[in-house]
Amino acid sequence: MSFIISTHINYYFICRRKLWLFTHGIHMEHESDLVYEGRMIGEVSYTDRSKKYTEIEIMGSKIDYYDPNRKIVHEVKKSDQMEIAHEWQVKYYIWLLKQSGIEDVEGILEYPKMKIKKKVILTEEDENTLKQIVKDIELIINQKSCPPCIHKKYCHSCSYFDFCYIIE
Ligand code: SF4
Repeated sequence: MSFIISTHINYYFICRRKLWLFTHGIHMEHESDLVYEGRMIGEVSYTDRSKKYTEIEIMGSKIDYYDPNRKIVHEVKKSDQMEIAHEWQVKYYIWLLKQSGIEDVEGILEYPKMKIKKKVILTEEDENTLKQIVKDIELIINQKSCPPCIHKKYCHSCSYFDFCYIIE
């Protein structure tokens, strides 16, 4: 289970094709720009954040801002368009921390550009859901062929857009 990282959880909710491509080593350059952009939004919006919070890596998943005193995971995103994916990503962080013996952690999803913050908690039901999600992810990424394009509006802002729609 440990090779499943938060990016897999995020992509599971966005697109199974994206999940498969990412896991099979097909990475688009633009991808790292988006991660950098998310981090930059955090740095610019909350200037003293890096001093207050710790960056931690847990079972391959990197949490940019963790407040160890209050046991809060802060996740900064550009827009809430994929809120469900963001929410489960944070739940996954909390679950990983719990598995490492750090209990009672909560999360805050932050969309500074929209001035929105949302509390995220992990329930027992969520933990069961995450176990199922991990199994689903393993099934998807072990498929021999790449899942089809999903033809969603948000494909236009996906880093794999050219790859998907030029070869299809
Ligand atoms: S462009 Fe669309 S179909 Fe292709 S990986 Fe991205 S979300 Fe999936």
